[in-house]
Amino acid sequence: MEEAIDTPVRKGTERAGPRGGESGTAHDDALRVLLVEDDAAIARELSLRWGERGWVVEVAPTLAAADVARAAPLGIVVLDLGLPDGDGLDWLARLRRDDATTPLIVLTARDTVAERVRGLRGGADDYVVKPFEPEELDARIEGLARRARVERGDAAHYGALTWLKREGRAYAAGRELDLSPREFEVLGLLVMRAPRLVPKRILTDALAERNLEVGDSAAEVYVSRLRKKLEGSGIAIRTLRGFGYHLALEASPSMS
Ligand code: CA
Repeated sequence: MEEAIDTPVRKGTERAGPRGGESGTAHDDALRVLLVEDDAAIARELSLRWGERGWVVEVAPTLAAADVARAAPLGIVVLDLGLPDGDGLDWLARLRRDDATTPLIVLTARDTVAERVRGLRGGADDYVVKPFEPEELDARIEGLARRARVERGDAAHYGALTWLKREGRAYAAGRELDLSPREFEVLGLLVMRAPRLVPKRILTDALAERNLEVGDSAAEVYVSRLRKKLEGSGIAIRTLRGFGYHLALEASPSMS
């Protein structure tokens, strides 16, 4: 009877995502990095390194080139300050006038506190001083990219749970969950508000939008399926009878 409501998606065929009608080329979900850097050795090393990580890297050796690159949607910007045609901070000020949100990391040899403060007040999200550890820069980029996605509602995290909207994938404790499209949607509603309560009506409405046949018990059906799939992950779905559901961290996850 449950299967009449929602047919589970088989792995390797149709997935829950990607959403929004975008055609799924391999690079659609890749992180895009604009590296504004005139030091050829650093630019080469970082583009190779990031390319191997699957990121799409564009190098702009001048501010003029960075202006051209700005015409395309930006992912993350890594900005050197001492550039042949000007100061990176002036370019940052121009960028921030019409783009307040693109994550940007300053990468520079200018290391005084006053200079760092100037960069951060000027609209940089982070500030890395040369010489730098590439691994640390990678981690800072990933952190900013993750936060940007969460702010766009494109990803959500709670405890060991990660929910990626565009990919249509969810992970618990590093393991991908095998979810049907509607299970994925219900989990998304829960994780985006976690650990706050999600009224049952919100889940029922979301399910009804996708399926006219959905009844009052649909939310319960999907929640109970999700509970089974989250077993051992350290994440629990709690019921507040008569109100709704919320995610909670289990005190002692039993990894089965
Ligand atoms: Ca430079």
